Amino acid sequence: MLHTSYLEISKSAYKKNIAFIRSEVGEGTEISIVVKGNAYGHGIEEIIPLAEANGIRHFSTFSADEAARVHACSRKNATVMIMGMLQDEDMELLIEKGIEFFVFEFDRLKSTIEVARRLGKKARIHVEVETGFKRTGFEWEDREALTEILKNYGEHLELKGLCTHYAGAESISNYVRVTQQIKRFERFYTYFQEVGLSFDRYHSACSAAMLSYPSTIMDMVRVGIASYGFWPTQETYMYRFDSLPEDDKNPLKRLISWKSSVMSLKQVKMGEFIGYGSSYMAPRDMTIALVPVGYSHGFARTLSNQGKVLIGGKILSVVGTVTMNSISVDITDAKGIKKGDEVVLIGRQRKNEITVASFGESTQQVNYELLTRLPMNIPRKIVP
Ligand SMILES: *Cc1c(COP(=O)(O)O)cnc(C)c1O
Repeated sequence: MLHTSYLEISKSAYKKNIAFIRSEVGEGTEISIVVKGNAYGHGIEEIIPLAEANGIRHFSTFSADEAARVHACSRKNATVMIMGMLQDEDMELLIEKGIEFFVFEFDRLKSTIEVARRLGKKARIHVEVETGFKRTGFEWEDREALTEILKNYGEHLELKGLCTHYAGAESISNYVRVTQQIKRFERFYTYFQEVGLSFDRYHSACSAAMLSYPSTIMDMVRVGIASYGFWPTQETYMYRFDSLPEDDKNPLKRLISWKSSVMSLKQVKMGEFIGYGSSYMAPRDMTIALVPVGYSHGFARTLSNQGKVLIGGKILSVVGTVTMNSISVDITDAKGIKKGDEVVLIGRQRKNEITVASFGESTQQVNYELLTRLPMNIPRKIVP
């Protein structure tokens, strides 16, 4: 093993998550798996084959570079859709490859038409409308100008979708905002119907919307976090708890485990300081295990004197500051730990488990952020 830690991705957990999502949306709705942020840290090249083995044929990315990676590793000719950034200079390649993308402003619409016309190939676009998120999307006031362009240049465009994104479907505190967005999306839908513009698919739901607002499910859902086995928030889980099947109240399973090993051991006398500065003074004679994972690997500095890891099946504490490449773990009360023993940063070891959520709570990072900070170059292994 050339690396200081590695990630395991569980195939069986993934299968369960896709089955649950499928049961939520029904057979008639396409599931687009969101793989932005390197598939939420899991690795695009690892997730695409797993997803395809579970019948998924549609993927959503944030940017053109991610879309190219998905396109390159798909073995099932999957549809790839870019929801965010692309440069005009990438457009030719994207249209050639049949990669779909969101169009949310007139500049992008114009360059799309220009490039498609030059190539003699239709661009596959999803028109994103603004309903209240205030990130990207055509405004209600743009509708007439937009309709005119979409109609006049229809020979260069395939209208693959009409879409929007919700601003916080994971919390009841945003209920008014989200229901207003649903209404505004319906208003756009009706308007385009009336002027005779139809789209292959209408889509709006992310994981939280799918789980909490069934009317947002429509022709396709864009699901990220739930496919990786996490509830968008604890609140979404609480809201859905009663409606979950009696025999499985926990239908979403974490796929990822993060593991390393003990690099060296050290004895420290009472009163000595451990690590940089003076944040931790040994309150007794101690034994410390050094683990070669630090903030450069995604183990947050805010876990200094806070983090927990598993060694020998026991929950043990990080003492002193998290450094760039290592942490010190107090193993004084755990007998028999040796150099080379497995260390679990996220995951299960014998009877104990460290979940991403418990890790996240102690750093104030939500699951999304912690996962996507896992570096690209940590090896990922698929396990059963
Ligand atoms: C990230 C994202 C999603 C997926 O969100 P999850 O909460 O991970 O399901 C869907 N749509 C858009 C536009 C996004 O940016």
